[in-house]
Amino acid sequence: MTASTIWPPRTDAAQLEDLVLTVTRSGDDRKLRSVHAPYSDEEIGSVPDCTGEDVELAISRARNAQEEWAARDVSERATILTRYHDMVLSRQDELLDVMQLESGKARRDALEEVLDVANNARHYATRAEGYLADEKRKGGFPVLTKARQHRHPVGVVGVISPWNYPLTLAVSDAIPALLAGNSVVLKPAEETPFTALLAVKLLREAGVPPNVFQVVTGSGKELGPPLIDNVDFVQFTGSTKTGRRVAKRAGKNLVPSSLELGGKNPMVVFDDADLKWAVDGAIRGCFTNAGQLCLSFERLYAQSGIYEQFRDELVNRTRSLHLAASYDHDPEVGSLMGKQQLARVRTHVDDAVEKGAKLLTGGRHRPDLGPYFYEPTILEGVTDEMLVAHEETFGPVVTLRSFRSDEEAISLANDSEYGLNAAVWTGDTDRGHDVARKIECGTVNLNDPYTAAWGSVDAPMGGMKQSGLGRRHGDEGFLKYTQTQTVAEQRFHPIAPPRRVPMRLYAKGMSAILKLMRRIPGLR
Ligand code: NDP
Repeated sequence: MTASTIWPPRTDAAQLEDLVLTVTRSGDDRKLRSVHAPYSDEEIGSVPDCTGEDVELAISRARNAQEEWAARDVSERATILTRYHDMVLSRQDELLDVMQLESGKARRDALEEVLDVANNARHYATRAEGYLADEKRKGGFPVLTKARQHRHPVGVVGVISPWNYPLTLAVSDAIPALLAGNSVVLKPAEETPFTALLAVKLLREAGVPPNVFQVVTGSGKELGPPLIDNVDFVQFTGSTKTGRRVAKRAGKNLVPSSLELGGKNPMVVFDDADLKWAVDGAIRGCFTNAGQLCLSFERLYAQSGIYEQFRDELVNRTRSLHLAASYDHDPEVGSLMGKQQLARVRTHVDDAVEKGAKLLTGGRHRPDLGPYFYEPTILEGVTDEMLVAHEETFGPVVTLRSFRSDEEAISLANDSEYGLNAAVWTGDTDRGHDVARKIECGTVNLNDPYTAAWGSVDAPMGGMKQSGLGRRHGDEGFLKYTQTQTVAEQRFHPIAPPRRVPMRLYAKGMSAILKLMRRIPGLR
């Protein structure tokens, strides 16, 4: 691969260098950390290797800036984030180029990130005012007590994001935090800092004050602890292993956290499903972003009546997928992120094949396309002792097996410590809903792999079991960045025994009032 194929049309080294100026640093003599392009493994630039001191500086600046940001009218913040929505769409090519450059993903996968950020910006900018409005609450005693609920921002939100969706996971969760009046300090993955820096540059151009959204680049092991120790809320997306560390640290400081973690997601195809649609869905669900999507399927279950037809059509479609290192929209599958990811995928596939699994297609590293390309792979005959049966591969590898009944499908789907995302394909909507409710996953898509749930930003999304704590999207995805305050006003008489009334009489009177309140619907 030649150097000219590495750089996308609108990005060059000077532009990346310019983005580095947005990193928060406490001095100029910092060490640098180089960033590589997965398409060629060549160095594309470097970012500061920030220290704990830099993190503390960023957080103290964020704290100072937050008060003024929160004091602005919510409509002003909504206007800024709506402007950001428009900028992300109109300047999407710049974002797509940088995302592809440092993550090696196909352009169509990068596009999903742009659309997601715009979707979240529009959704929350439209609703922020409603979420933050004061609300009247029923007082403890009718007429005597009046209660009102206020929502305040939590303060400084720390966002820690992974490399696989470097735009959306750095920014989409930060958008509701900003709208709620918080400031944000972001620690992006080591591999993909430039996307985060470009996203922040656009946020600043849209009108977010520089100290209200800051980025620190460097190692998660180094920067994670000081970040968690000093912020007021931690929004973490990454592996379950790191998530546990984050939760432990945050718990020690009593800092709330929301954790979006790993998965081993199942897709179930019933024999009454539209097969062509299900095959297309499986292709997208298993191989989008070369399988490096937390929502993607690594376990496929097809009912016995259609098993062979589904398998054969899926294998044929998989073999015809277009893999390439390219900055145009055509390729369907891009590169893996790097050495570690490739090693993990190879280990899982080789282990399964050595232990007797059948390779239906794929199973090959493709250095002819780029150093980290790996063919989309389907395995059959996978048994429990194989790594691929239960561990998250996070690559373009899926296992396929048949089932007979709805109960068996549900039990297979639930046979995992994870519970992030699932899909059910059936022509019978009632059956689909019934099965979906019994699957232990935070999101279940009917006749769609993941976009139905992911794109429905009005509905919460997150993991059950080891896939996470807390939710993004929906009301929860906004309200978690606020803390409620109740102001209750007592009028005419306190809720306490009147002077000179014996306690026994007071107890009787209070009991009678509570009984009355239970009986009269308007007082409940
Ligand atoms: P990691 O858990 O390795 O890293 C995620 C982030 O955490 C990175 O920014 C990393 O920094 C940082 N980090 C590392 N160590 C610490 C620490 N001790 N304290 C605080 N932060 C730390 O995950 P990956 O980047 O490998 O991402 C892939 C994983 O993310 C998969 O398991 C995938 O399923 C999951 N994921 C979940 C999603 C969801 O919504 N549920 C969405 C996308 C991915 P550094 O890069 O410097 O190591």
